[in-house]
Amino acid sequence: MKFIGVDLGGTNIKVALVDEKGQIVAERSRPTLLPRPAEAVCDDIAALCAELTADADESIGGIGVGCPGTVDDETGMVLYSNNLDWNNFAMGPYLTQKTGLPVRLVNDANAAALGEVLAGCAKDAQSAVILTLGTGVGGGVVLDGKLLVGYTGAAAEPGHMVICDTPDAPLCTCGRRGCFEVYGSATALIRMTREAAEAHPDSLLGRAQSFTGRTAFDAARAGDAAGQQVVQAYIHNLAVGVANLVSIFFPQVVGLSGGVANEGESLLAPLRKEVDALVYGHAHAKKKTAIVACTLGYRAGVIGAALLARDGKE
Ligand SMILES: [Zn+2]
Repeated sequence: MKFIGVDLGGTNIKVALVDEKGQIVAERSRPTLLPRPAEAVCDDIAALCAELTADADESIGGIGVGCPGTVDDETGMVLYSNNLDWNNFAMGPYLTQKTGLPVRLVNDANAAALGEVLAGCAKDAQSAVILTLGTGVGGGVVLDGKLLVGYTGAAAEPGHMVICDTPDAPLCTCGRRGCFEVYGSATALIRMTREAAEAHPDSLLGRAQSFTGRTAFDAARAGDAAGQQVVQAYIHNLAVGVANLVSIFFPQVVGLSGGVANEGESLLAPLRKEVDALVYGHAHAKKKTAIVACTLGYRAGVIGAALLARDGKE
């Protein structure tokens, strides 16, 4: 039996036919074309599902949808999605009526986390925290093989854990100061890189034409002191947040995704060292959390959503 995973984003709808082991058999995508009514977006999702179903050589067990915002899998409702501008839309029942298939809903970051745990970097682990270092810091927590969704499905927003509550800490989009994501996101790394470039105009960083999440790492590798300072400071910030999460959940694996995670061991080796010194009880711990890079890339979301459909409702 095969399953369909949907990754519904503000820009694109990505849909994949996935086997029971989490391997993608076929995939499709089309632009979300917002703003438009939720029903019109779902009609496109149903059409993409029909294309995949027509290609499949066996029956489809169900559809899983990763959706930005707060969703209630129990009732199939998208309660609130800022990105899509949807409120209280009964997406599950609507898609079931269009496709004849059972539908499960999950927050998009949680879908990606589940994909990495069931078929990616934390495969075979029973517990993991997955962090996406992008515009913000997104994430998902899996404990005993199950997503931690919390009351109303809104749990696991590690990006808004405050790690520095001083009046001069950078302001977060959520209204608080010093959230993990204003220190640990790719956006934060770029801000720090730009500030260091202005402070050290004669450095390699200072002579950079444009700034991305790679600029400081590249400068550091070339021996630039300003670049090395930025990388060190960024990794320290990241370590504080990761260590907090390890102290709370003590997962088997922490997986990092997003462009910054592509730095590989340049990021991971010093991060492990810093986290090790910060985690409560680590001096005596026999087993420690593995900190690794995620492996599924942008496909984590469709795979996680499809595997949620595979596992069915309880
Ligand atoms: Zn925040």
